[in-house]
Amino acid sequence: MIRPILIHPDPRLKKTCAPVDAVTTDIGQLAEDMLATMYDAPGIGLAAPQVGAMTRLLVMDCVKDPAKSPRPMVMLNPVVTWSSEDTSIYDEGCLSIPDQYAEVTRPAKVRVEWLGLDGKTTEEEFEGLWATCVQHEIDHLNGKLFIDYLGPLKRQMITRKMEKLKRELARNA
Ligand SMILES: [Zn+2]
Repeated sequence: MIRPILIHPDPRLKKTCAPVDAVTTDIGQLAEDMLATMYDAPGIGLAAPQVGAMTRLLVMDCVKDPAKSPRPMVMLNPVVTWSSEDTSIYDEGCLSIPDQYAEVTRPAKVRVEWLGLDGKTTEEEFEGLWATCVQHEIDHLNGKLFIDYLGPLKRQMITRKMEKLKRELARNA
């Protein structure tokens, strides 16, 4: 089931999410719905608070080439256990901040530990777009958006555009 994606500004996008304490059928359903919502958008990552679920769950698939097999990933309680000193800059966007992009500097490589839907703990090192994406999505679980890395003027400009977009969407609903 495709779930509606919250648009910034929304208080739920500013909150710290609670850890998943058990892999229940509800969590499995949420992960499945979030993958469907992400692919439909289309996007490469989605965090649970973006669909109003205040839990530490994210999904991502950074395989953009349609000729390659997709790699849907589901992470429960993801934690960055190591990040590189070298950084990379990526023109980031967000499904909760549609059509707005800005350059964000982050560690180029990160190691992440997470719990899978199978209840097993996995650790993996990510680089390139995967590293950017997983850090962006983990930020969501801590109530942080990519625009929080920008200067106040740029952030306010984007927030005003989103407020206007939300008014238009509400009018047309
Ligand atoms: Zn985002």
